[in-house]
Amino acid sequence: MADKRDIRQTGLADLETFFLEAGDKKFRARQVWEWIWKKSAVSFDEMTSLSLEVRRMLDRHFEWHPAIPEITQQSSDGTVKAGFRLHDGHLVEGVLIPARDRMTACVSSQVGCSLTCTFCATGAMKRMRNLEPGEIYDQVVWLRRQAEEKLGHPLSNIVFMGMGEPLLNYRHVTTAIDHITSPQGLEMAPRRVTLSTAGVARMIMKLADDGVKCNLALSLHAADDEKRNAIMPINEQNNLEALAAALQYYHRKTRRGLTFEYILFAGFNDSRADARNLMNFAHKVPCKVNLIEYNPVDGVSFEKSSPEATLAFSDLLRSRGMQVNLRKSRGKDIDAACGQLANKPNVA
Ligand code: SF4
Repeated sequence: MADKRDIRQTGLADLETFFLEAGDKKFRARQVWEWIWKKSAVSFDEMTSLSLEVRRMLDRHFEWHPAIPEITQQSSDGTVKAGFRLHDGHLVEGVLIPARDRMTACVSSQVGCSLTCTFCATGAMKRMRNLEPGEIYDQVVWLRRQAEEKLGHPLSNIVFMGMGEPLLNYRHVTTAIDHITSPQGLEMAPRRVTLSTAGVARMIMKLADDGVKCNLALSLHAADDEKRNAIMPINEQNNLEALAAALQYYHRKTRRGLTFEYILFAGFNDSRADARNLMNFAHKVPCKVNLIEYNPVDGVSFEKSSPEATLAFSDLLRSRGMQVNLRKSRGKDIDAACGQLANKPNVA
């Protein structure tokens, strides 16, 4: 027999063809589809509405590529981090972040990352491969269960801010978003899902062209090209002018506002001049700004801005009418905070 295919990389139309060729009914594919994406089954044995004969036939032709939570840790602030083992042995991390009014799952889209942002632990790893839609979906399902069963609160938000650049795994990430938001899937509201990019201008425009239903955040971190080049090499091919044009295109087509993520680094991007650069850039599209506390990463010399500098920066932005949120670091003690995900071997 030919190599087995991953059932979750098989489209509905292909599944329908499979059942018709096997002499069965087309609607059987929809039953299987519902087990996979709505009921989150991870084996054919769970599909109890199918006969044993059908389940055995599926087992002969298809396989599963699940992301299995293997290593979990809980921070003193309640943040939960999980290491998910993939079918080929790789490990990726997903994080559940409880806050007063929200419960957020932060998921990975790639094993490692190719973009080498200098402040990020993931960027120090090589990109090993893209995650499959089912591997992204499994992180969401497990973190959602943890939220409900362990922390007693339903999942309210999903952010693609874990390991990897989601727009460099465009097809699989947008397919996963479809399964997460679709009525035939997990039915999360699209406004609760945020894709965060380091800034791939042409893919931002593609998101708009394809009408992908989610929010968009840009990891900005510096609003002049020289500084941004120094910490985010992707800026050399996707400079601020190109990004502004892509974001304006995105806004014109989708009518959605943007979020700019801005980590404050002491003495690097937290001066009044930096705030003015940020305001000039941010005024190009309707947006809000998340100012993020920096988390220490081994081998990185940046330090976080002082409380005084952080306050002065945010006050200046607010005084010009900008919507600003201050984001405290979460999960620092288990290396689960923003920029810290790197499959550290001491996770246990
Ligand atoms: S910040 Fe994001 S894009 Fe940059 S290296 Fe880290 S994971 Fe990759």
